[in-house]
Amino acid sequence: MKHKTIAFIYAHPDDETFSSSYLIRQTVDEGHRVVLLTATRGDAGKTGRLGSMTPQELAARRERELEQAARILGIAEVRQLGLGDGKLKDVPAEELQKQIAEFIAHHNAEVVVTFPADGISGHKDHIVIHHAVNAVVFSRRTPTVQKLYYNQLGNYQSESSSVVKLEAGGYWEAKRLALQAHESQILSIERVFGDLGPEVPPHHRFEAFELAWERGVHFPPKTERSVWNDLL
Ligand SMILES: [Zn+2]
Repeated sequence: MKHKTIAFIYAHPDDETFSSSYLIRQTVDEGHRVVLLTATRGDAGKTGRLGSMTPQELAARRERELEQAARILGIAEVRQLGLGDGKLKDVPAEELQKQIAEFIAHHNAEVVVTFPADGISGHKDHIVIHHAVNAVVFSRRTPTVQKLYYNQLGNYQSESSSVVKLEAGGYWEAKRLALQAHESQILSIERVFGDLGPEVPPHHRFEAFELAWERGVHFPPKTERSVWNDLL
């Protein structure tokens, strides 16, 4: 198969690492290209054990953290829109969609991954991104896109849709290092993953990606082994 491009569209620096590291690393190892768009610079977040920072300082810090995580995971290009962290609902929908569409078109991505309807964590910014990516892909304004996946929690099950599961296997080490790179977010990382030892945390053996749309069909009932199955 010709090498393909997969675009991850998320809200904050670290969203990619939390629940897509196994897929990103495997994709890169198989010779495909991964690109990442984050709508915000994460400047309204916490600073972990790094002490107090201004929003500008935190944004700059998180940009460096994201660059390091991207290097570890093998992401070819990261773009940050710099929209308001925690305030994406205030961005005009058409403006957000336009920027997402331009990013996807620039990279000619065949596969797009974003948040599910509940934002995976319920975060309002995540839910805004979910709807914006849906609007772009469903309207086919980015004709290179053949499939859209929702990044679900690793234990996600569905009887009616296709869910590709990625097992940690040899990828936990990359995920662990990428998580550590997001040092300002270490408190929420430890809350979710524990203290980041060499063993895969039992609840994080899998990442799950639900096929939401394939060339005009919503939730096609099929079984897939990989997000690359059935691409033209
Ligand atoms: Zn987030």
